[in-house]
Amino acid sequence: MKATEDKDKRKKEFMDELTGIYNRAGFYHFTRELLDQNPNMQFCLVYWNIRRFKVVNNLFGWERGDKILIHLADSMKEEFGGEIATYGRMERDNFICCLPFDVLSKGKWLRLGEVTYAMGDLDYHFSCCYGLYKIDDRKMSISVMGDRARIAMESVKDNYMCSYAWYNEEMWNSLVEEQSLSNDFKTAIAEKQFKVYYQPICEAVDGLVSGAEALVRWQHPARGLISPGVFIPLFEQNGYISILDRYVWNEVCKMLKGRMDAGKKVLPVSINVSRIEFYNHHLCEDIYNIVTKNGVPIDLIKIEITETAYADNPVQVQEAVNKFHEYGFVVLMDDFGSGYSSLNILKDLPIDTLKIDMKFLNGFETSEKATIILEAVVRMAKWMSLRVVAEGVEGRKEWEFLKSVECDLVQGFYFYKPMPESDYIALLDKTEIEERSFSKDEFEELENSIMNAFHRGDGVDNVLFYSMIGGMGVMEMTEDTLEILQVNRGYYEVLYGVAEDSDRNIRVLNKKIVEPEKSILMEQCKLAREKDCVQQVQLHHLLDEKGNYKWLNVKLRFLGSCGKRSMYSFVIDDIDEMKKLEKERYLFDYSAALLKVFDKVYRLDYETGMAEVLHTSGSGYMQVGDKYAFLSFFHKYEDSIRWVDCSKEVVGIIENKTLLDAELEKSANGSYSISYQCTIGEIEERINVLFFKVEPRANEVTYLCCIKANVL
Ligand code: C2E
Ligand code: CA
Ligand code: CA
Repeated sequence: MKATEDKDKRKKEFMDELTGIYNRAGFYHFTRELLDQNPNMQFCLVYWNIRRFKVVNNLFGWERGDKILIHLADSMKEEFGGEIATYGRMERDNFICCLPFDVLSKGKWLRLGEVTYAMGDLDYHFSCCYGLYKIDDRKMSISVMGDRARIAMESVKDNYMCSYAWYNEEMWNSLVEEQSLSNDFKTAIAEKQFKVYYQPICEAVDGLVSGAEALVRWQHPARGLISPGVFIPLFEQNGYISILDRYVWNEVCKMLKGRMDAGKKVLPVSINVSRIEFYNHHLCEDIYNIVTKNGVPIDLIKIEITETAYADNPVQVQEAVNKFHEYGFVVLMDDFGSGYSSLNILKDLPIDTLKIDMKFLNGFETSEKATIILEAVVRMAKWMSLRVVAEGVEGRKEWEFLKSVECDLVQGFYFYKPMPESDYIALLDKTEIEERSFSKDEFEELENSIMNAFHRGDGVDNVLFYSMIGGMGVMEMTEDTLEILQVNRGYYEVLYGVAEDSDRNIRVLNKKIVEPEKSILMEQCKLAREKDCVQQVQLHHLLDEKGNYKWLNVKLRFLGSCGKRSMYSFVIDDIDEMKKLEKERYLFDYSAALLKVFDKVYRLDYETGMAEVLHTSGSGYMQVGDKYAFLSFFHKYEDSIRWVDCSKEVVGIIENKTLLDAELEKSANGSYSISYQCTIGEIEERINVLFFKVEPRANEVTYLCCIKANVL
């Protein structure tokens, strides 16, 4: 009797009621025994968890959720029943087992968590994530070992590309780091170390700022600026997020109220609501109270709810959205398309705006599929009278596409990065002034007419523009980019000597201008705008990667601006030939002057060691343009040279650019002279040589060697 009682008691203590395998205490107890009984065997712990088990419960109910857990336990019994191993359920959907290393290496454990559950006609597939820990120190308690395996599991929990990880020291360190961030939280709040950044959200049609999203940053005294990706998940785990969110909402309201009181322009701000907040039944009231207590109108605050919040808590989220609407808030669905219940959401949730992150459309640039999906989502949203914001817009091409599918709003680095409050305020003040000077409609009209002009259509204007002789186009400047948007046929003729007419798209260039041309042109654009006149600049234009270039004359005129974008028309002329002639002409003029004094003038090229004849008085065989190796000259005629007023050592000086430079520097008139007597055939001559250098233009140095010979 006593024995059965003991057994029952023990069973209660060590067994999991639901699944009939060990519970936490049982696993600890029997795993210790297992290790003690097999001292020479290498063991590992595997800890695993069903991904998004909460969703499983939500979709199918607790009862079915329980069945899945029992199914998992059964498959473990089947796999490891005959092995030297222990296994159990820690809590909820967390399982653990201790296996000999060689059993583990067979890889069977990876199949344990693959569950396919049939409901109606459909098979639902669930997957697990696993953490592995190799037991090297047996003195450690089983619970600490289990923690290590769990830490490893946590590291792949949100990584759908990878289902398992081995424990390592780094994981421990990052946990310690997280702990230290948690410890710093209260001080950080008290000392206002959290800063609200604002990322403008723009109208898709013209890029004008129409509002902003509040994004928190942590200005940590020791670690610098920490991004929310680091601390938000952490604070969602330990619950601090609700304090942080409220702090952020308050800061946003204070900013808005401050501007309103000062009679300054205000635009709505979207605030992020963590998915954890939906466990709090006062969420909507909390936000409403913060907004009204600060004296901010409801329509200046928009609420962003992430799609995953809905997947976790559909009922609560639905209730909250309704309540937000009752209060008059606009609600946005953030990260739409990131999870798997996207389409269901639209059916069930009365949201106002969809936010689609471009990064979820992997490879927008290259994949046709991505553009089709995006277009379909936008169209669908339109049918349902939802507005669409595309976030993460990084390039002009993406923007053009979004405009073409009539997406309403855009947000991303192409327009603005998240910025500190002071910058955002400055931007609002600036756009307020700018908008007064150029209306959105006017700019749009201007932009359209320019764009149309370059597309060859039926209109006379269009043909004219496109076929106009000479290269021309339109470029757009923002604060830090300069891009050529459209060009005509002449543009290609000027640059490459041929017109690339085969592809119509070639005229829509979207070509980013890079340094060093970028700075030169941006400068001119600014001047053209300020002075409202045509600016002209000559520049070296790189034609290809091989370093071929062409000299161009660029004329540009300011067309108009809207927000931070401004447009310029430009005309290019090929001045390559002219530049080359100019150089020759310069040298020619120069040598003409020298001619009167000297018999011969050479240009010394120290790189090649050649002296080029720029001028010769005509006697002898020498011709202009001939080149001689000057570095060997004195050595060759060494025997027939007699130095006058100087020594043989001068040869070393004139053969070495640095030494010659030093001598030129030293002399009062910037020249260096030598004299020698030389007998060639019957004739004995005294030769005076003068070296100096000229700089025809900045950074271009020419060494001249001028010779006057006197027959003795
Ligand atoms: P989110 O709500 O999806 O915010 C958009 C994120 O995308 C921001 O990252 C933003 O800086 C980034 N982003 C914007 N444009 C571009 C772009 O063109 N390219 C790329 N690559 N990224 C872009 P951030 O600021 O690091 O915030 C990360 C996440 O942290 C946010 O994602 C949001 O979920 C959360 N978060 C930020 N602030 C708060 C807050 O105050 N409360 C709560 N609960 N969560 C917040
Ligand atoms: Ca957001
Ligand atoms: Ca987002």
